[in-house]
Amino acid sequence: MLSTQPLSALVAAIVGLAIGGSVLLREPRRGVHVLFATFTFNIALRNLFSFLAAGLESDFFNWAAMLAAVSLPATAQRFFQRFLGDEAGPPPLLRSTVVGAGLFYLALCFGRFVDTSLYHSTWFNFAFAIYVFAGLYLSVYYLYRRYRATPSRVEKIRLLYLVVGGVATVTAALLDVAPSGSSFGNIFIIIYLYFLSQTLVRYRLLDLNELLGRMVVLATLVLIVTLIYGVLVKWVGPDQHGLFFFNALIASTAILIVYDPLRSRVEGAVNKWMFQEKYELTRRIDNLRADLMNIIDVRESVPRVMAALEDSRRVTHASAYFVDPDGSGYELAGHIGPRPEARLDAVANRAFFERLRRAGVVSIEGLEREIAAGKNQQTEEKQNLLLMSRALELLNGSVVVAIVGEEQLLGMLVLRDERLREAYSSDEIDLFRGVAASIGVTLQNSQVYERMKERDRLAALGQMAAGLAHEIRNPLGSIKGAAQLLQPIGQQSSDSTTKEFLDIIVEEANRLNKIVSQFLDYARPYRGDPSPLDVNDVVKKTLQLLEKEEGASRIEISSNLVEGLPPVRADPEQLRQVFLNLSLNALQAMPQTGKLQVSTSLRRSTRRGATAAFLEVRFRDTGVGIPPGDLRNLFIPFFTTKDKGTGLGLPISQRIIENHGGTIEVRSQPGAGASFTVLLPIEADAFASYAESKKGPPPLPADRRTPVLLPSLEPVRKDSAKDPLPAGGRASR
Ligand code: ADP
Repeated sequence: MLSTQPLSALVAAIVGLAIGGSVLLREPRRGVHVLFATFTFNIALRNLFSFLAAGLESDFFNWAAMLAAVSLPATAQRFFQRFLGDEAGPPPLLRSTVVGAGLFYLALCFGRFVDTSLYHSTWFNFAFAIYVFAGLYLSVYYLYRRYRATPSRVEKIRLLYLVVGGVATVTAALLDVAPSGSSFGNIFIIIYLYFLSQTLVRYRLLDLNELLGRMVVLATLVLIVTLIYGVLVKWVGPDQHGLFFFNALIASTAILIVYDPLRSRVEGAVNKWMFQEKYELTRRIDNLRADLMNIIDVRESVPRVMAALEDSRRVTHASAYFVDPDGSGYELAGHIGPRPEARLDAVANRAFFERLRRAGVVSIEGLEREIAAGKNQQTEEKQNLLLMSRALELLNGSVVVAIVGEEQLLGMLVLRDERLREAYSSDEIDLFRGVAASIGVTLQNSQVYERMKERDRLAALGQMAAGLAHEIRNPLGSIKGAAQLLQPIGQQSSDSTTKEFLDIIVEEANRLNKIVSQFLDYARPYRGDPSPLDVNDVVKKTLQLLEKEEGASRIEISSNLVEGLPPVRADPEQLRQVFLNLSLNALQAMPQTGKLQVSTSLRRSTRRGATAAFLEVRFRDTGVGIPPGDLRNLFIPFFTTKDKGTGLGLPISQRIIENHGGTIEVRSQPGAGASFTVLLPIEADAFASYAESKKGPPPLPADRRTPVLLPSLEPVRKDSAKDPLPAGGRASR
């Protein structure tokens, strides 16, 4: 009958192999994973041999176990060296450890082939144990040294756990080999290896509770699975091999089928029993997600999310941000706790948003760890990390979870619990990610819903407008016709007022007709025919038309068109209409003299976390400018400051550009002129071939199939363009 020690050695060998194998399978090419697997396999091999030595009472395996143990200090030190990174410097006495290993290999070979009494002698065994355990303690000391030196709070906690666990494990293993012969060492080894593997696989520190929870889950599952297996295989007698395999097959099938539901049940039960708080959070968040499924309007979802988070008592600060309609920044939609920054600019925080879009989560601990780990990082990289930390500070958050849809960053959920240092475990962050995913779905649904509503509204408006136009135009035609018929009589009349009134009737009839036609343009659905075109051509044609306009001769019109720009997909007629509207407005804003400059160029900017390219057409005048109070009204139908204006030019232009997936930005200072900038998205393919032909900037990383912008739905006030005009009011849609 074997004692418990060899049996525990066998278990440690098997579990060690499983742990090492699982880490290696995850990322077989990562150096630190390979070194960890080497270390675990080394332990497993030693334990396997020592089990065989005891089981078979074999001197050979006893010798082999010692042979395997020789390399333990070196493999441990190499693994920890890679694990801690270059920052930690070389492990202490690594060279002596390797030399010592060489000497012991030689001695063991000598002992095996020449004089077996050597490795049976007490002094040899003593020296051997000193070498192995001193080497292992040195590895733990190496961790401790790093623990003392590291500036990162998160890293410190993680290393502290590893140091304490390391000391306990090496000491327990030492007690195992001591003459008293306990058998706890192997249990410690299993737990420590599992803990190490978890810290390797998951960057975020697993707190002790979570680790404990995982272990209880694992142990319960192992017990249940063993029970199923035992019941099905136990009654088969030793001589019935066929039946044994058959039953093992059935048992394995049954286990695989019940495994997933069983695991979630066990996890639920363990969480409820051990971590009431976490169980509560999971329950609340599940309810919240179910609730969110019934909401269409995303504005309604934010207060509910905030209320649920507040009720959970797991956050002291939380906020939700959504992307602006033109994607140039993220605006606060709701918060609990102290008010964070109202808006985060997408360009200024490009690195942060790119990271968030790609990784899904950004946490202050993660950033701190990266900053601490990479002292010799490129300065730009380091700068980016610092900027990201700054963004987190502005948001008042320790964890930010991305709200994504169609690979675009639509918003973010920011969380913080100021009472705790490591407030959220990775499982809890996963829960928050679930909430963010639900908000993302609601957001997309709400956009589709808004678009449908807008489309219905415009369709109804279009029908009404068409009916109204018919009703107005017919009598209007008669009025104008009658007035024109009477005009010759008026001219002959001695009463000059008759002629004047008749002229007014004709003029006003014309104006009314123009308003009705323009309103029809605004209300009728988009009927353009987009095709790839060179925007410069459209600008040139517009300028030709403009020269014929009344008052154009007073104004100095110049153009600055960058040649060879990539094509944009647009309807030339409609673009011309927009450009003409903007140019005429500029002319009208300069009653005496002035300058109108039209320029085209390329703009790269960050929209919804992704880099995108736009073609920019700017109309800059030196006219009267726009008062700040009027800026927000510019795009509202019928807003006009002109006696004979219709107030429809800009709304029509805006609809056309939005239908092309673009935006119009406005900047102005009263008295100093205005600048209207039309931004048209360039399709990623077109930009890629343009970049290729120019051998200029590399192609965009954005999704090549989709146009770069989504049409916006609501009016906004912001601008990220570097405009040459002095800072003043601005608006864009
Ligand atoms: P309308 O030209 O018929 O008034 P628009 O929608 O084209 O209608 O313009 C709305 C208003 O925007 C104008 O009445 C004017 O006050 C203001 N506006 C537009 N462009 C300019 C500009 N370049 N300079 C100053 N104000 C402008």
